[in-house]
Amino acid sequence: MTTYPGPATAPPASGGNEILRRDTLDPLTSYAHAYATDGTVHLNGNSLGPPRADLIGELDRVVRGQWPRSQVQAWFRDGWLDLPRTIGDKLAPLLGAAPGQVVVAGETTSTTLFNALVAACRLRADRPVVLVEAASFPTDLYLAASVVRLLGRELVVESAEGFDSFLHTHGARVAVAVASPVDFRTGERREIGPTTARCHAAGAIALWDLSHASGVLPVDLDPSEVDLAIGCGYKYLGGGPGAPAFLYVAARLQPEVDFPLSGWHGHARPFAMAPAFEPAPGIDRGRTGTPPLLSLVALNHALDPLLEVGIDALYRRSRELAGSFLDCLGARRPDLLDRLVSPRDAERRGGHLALRIPGAERIEEELRGRGVLVDSRPPDLIRFAFAPLYVTHVQVQRAVGELCQVVGETP
Ligand SMILES: *Cc1c(COP(=O)(O)O)cnc(C)c1O
Repeated sequence: MTTYPGPATAPPASGGNEILRRDTLDPLTSYAHAYATDGTVHLNGNSLGPPRADLIGELDRVVRGQWPRSQVQAWFRDGWLDLPRTIGDKLAPLLGAAPGQVVVAGETTSTTLFNALVAACRLRADRPVVLVEAASFPTDLYLAASVVRLLGRELVVESAEGFDSFLHTHGARVAVAVASPVDFRTGERREIGPTTARCHAAGAIALWDLSHASGVLPVDLDPSEVDLAIGCGYKYLGGGPGAPAFLYVAARLQPEVDFPLSGWHGHARPFAMAPAFEPAPGIDRGRTGTPPLLSLVALNHALDPLLEVGIDALYRRSRELAGSFLDCLGARRPDLLDRLVSPRDAERRGGHLALRIPGAERIEEELRGRGVLVDSRPPDLIRFAFAPLYVTHVQVQRAVGELCQVVGETP
């Protein structure tokens, strides 16, 4: 069990290194020591940040302790069977949700999105359109295309502005609108509250993919009256390789929501072995089958420090780290700062920044060789993600220094 130091007392302003001072003054800096980064600076935004150093102890407790002692009985004796909902309730405050509305069924983000998309279409059986933003993560576009084929609906893919105007002019035809609060390329935000209100004004279901927001940006699902949401467990939530996704269903929709993946764990009485499916009351109907227990254990463990800090402080820290990146880059290479495709205004972006630089893939590779992990997106974007608890201001400064060396004078 790792214990985290409390707030640091502010040292006297040294007038020395300003970036170092930002770390020293922020009590959240102390969390970085509890992650096993092996000396690398992890700014890679697409997945898999470092584990907490004591994850191995947590897995040991389950694999060496509970598993041999209880074997199959552990599903009941050690709370394994309840873990999808226990983790859901634990995650809920990070999402601005009351308990009983989030479940981690053990599925991928992709299957969870499929489940939610079909369920949303079933809630609006008389409306033909599935509306998706063109800049969506590819799997979201692929699945929306598959769902319309499956259900005989119509797919409408629109730019950010087109999305809003389609809802305004053709909203009565829309069954479900799928959007993300953070553009996975540029980091640009879409406000959840106003977009959800626009969907509801049109009578459509609002389905949010929170993959690039959960754990770094407040998403206020309950106050925004979101209908359905899904998100990835291994990005800012830090659940580890292949961590399962989460599903949110607003309490008011739970009695009527009808998921296509109606497996036995979503049954009202799973162990009655009844021949006909009867959905469980509440969020449990979002469950499917036997969940990947060890992955749930890892995700559960990853959430502890995030909850301890809380979403507002996580967001604050991430913004400040991005601020240090922009300050350092502006001081050393204003020409590279001009290549920022993310909004300059921190209010208008999520937890990452993107630069447009030719040869992005080569730069990613060279940075990796220098111990700085970033990710490139074709053809020429490089993303820098600022996870609040394992990245420090000093690391950001180091990453900018390496970036400036790797990118020649005239990129
Ligand atoms: C990362 C991400 C996914 C990933 O889907 P998996 O099934 O977990 O591979 C899906 N959607 C979005 C928006 C993402 O950012």
